[in-house]
Parts: sequence; structure tokens; C-alpha cells
Amino acid sequence: MRIMTSLCTLACIAAATLACTPKEPAKYLALAFDDGPNLTTESAMLDVLEKYDVPATFFVIGSNINDDTAENMKRAVKMGCEIGNHSFTHSQMTRLDEDQVKEEIEATSDMIEKITGTRPKFFRPPYINVKPEMYDWIDLTFICGKGCNDWVASVGKEDRLKGILESAEPGAIYLLHDFEGNEATVEALDEAIPMLLEQGYTFVTLSQLFEKQKHTPDGHTMYTVVPDERK
Ligand SMILES: [Zn+2]
Repeated sequence: MRIMTSLCTLACIAAATLACTPKEPAKYLALAFDDGPNLTTESAMLDVLEKYDVPATFFVIGSNINDDTAENMKRAVKMGCEIGNHSFTHSQMTRLDEDQVKEEIEATSDMIEKITGTRPKFFRPPYINVKPEMYDWIDLTFICGKGCNDWVASVGKEDRLKGILESAEPGAIYLLHDFEGNEATVEALDEAIPMLLEQGYTFVTLSQLFEKQKHTPDGHTMYTVVPDERK
């Protein structure tokens, strides 16, 4: 009986030790697509995300939103994705004054909130073109990200795939596009997502990425990799 008890105790100690063994911290990536919504390439992108059951963030252009394209925004949200603000007219915002910039942002955020019920928290400036005052004028977190020149038609699927895989690092945000006709990015991701999952990455939305990394967004920073502050 005493032997049984000590064996049991040993087993318990062993189990506790195993549970306490430090393991690799979880590695997170955030896919983020610009220039939607649309009912062509974006639908194909959503199909790929659905296939692997991974979320992403969609930076939409206000002037692209109508009753039809709004359906894809609703579908994305239903799948666990997040919607971000990519301005209303996709202009070079450095050429706009304070009122014009604020109108671009508010009009787009109003539409997103009306359709999804949630006001966006993140902003990706068109052409990543910013001037310092914009950080004071816009009350959203600025996002850049790692790209693979996927807006250039001559950059094919294989080069995009290579760029996506090489850019992977914990906390990274991707800068990709789902504008109409950009199928090469959809095809590249259809191969990249399972490979990155295999490497131990977990895909999350931008809100989740900041939460998981325990990093509070700074109003004057444009993020490409979110610092890991889990300690
Ligand atoms: Zn854009």
C-alpha cells in the first residue's frame, strides 16, 4: 500500500514537472489585405481563409462599399475577421488638409460601423504615405506591414509566395492586396498558409495580435511588427 502511494506521488510530481516545463512562446502572424471590398478577388480570398479556418484583417476603401460589396464585409466578420480603414478615396493623404483627412477617415469608419456594428481601430494609409500631423488628426492605430510587391502585376505567384514565407517572424503584419484581378496573391496564400501553420504560426486579427503580444498601441507609431511584451 505504501509502495502504491509513493508511486502515485512520483507520478504526480512527474506530471507537475511536465506541465511546468517552459515551452516556446506562441508565434502569431496577422494577414492584412488592402483595397476591397469587392465581389471577385476578395471572395476568392475569403474562400482560402475559410478553407484553412484562419482570420485576417481587411482594410477597405469607403468608396468601394455598396450594398453588394458590403456582403463580403459581413461574411468576413462572420468568419472572425476584422475590418480596418483604408480611407474613402485612396488619395495621397499628405496632400490633404486636416478637414479633408478627417472626412476621409470618419466617412469610412461610419460605413464600416453601420455594416458590421463595430467601429474600426486600425488605419492603413494609402501608399503608406503619411505626414506627422496625421497621427494627431486620426484617432486610429497606424499599420504598415511586410509586403511582397503584390500590387505589381509582373510579380508572379512564386515570387509572392517566397516573399510571404521569408517575411514570416513572430508578431509580423502582412501588407497584401485583394483588389480585383489580384488572384496571384490568393494563389500564393493558398500555399503559404498551410506551410506557415506547419511552422507553428497562429494567424490572428490585428486586434488579437496586439492583445496576444500584450502591447498597447502607440498613437504615433506605424506598426509592421508588434513587439512581444509577454513576460
Ligand atoms: Zn491601397
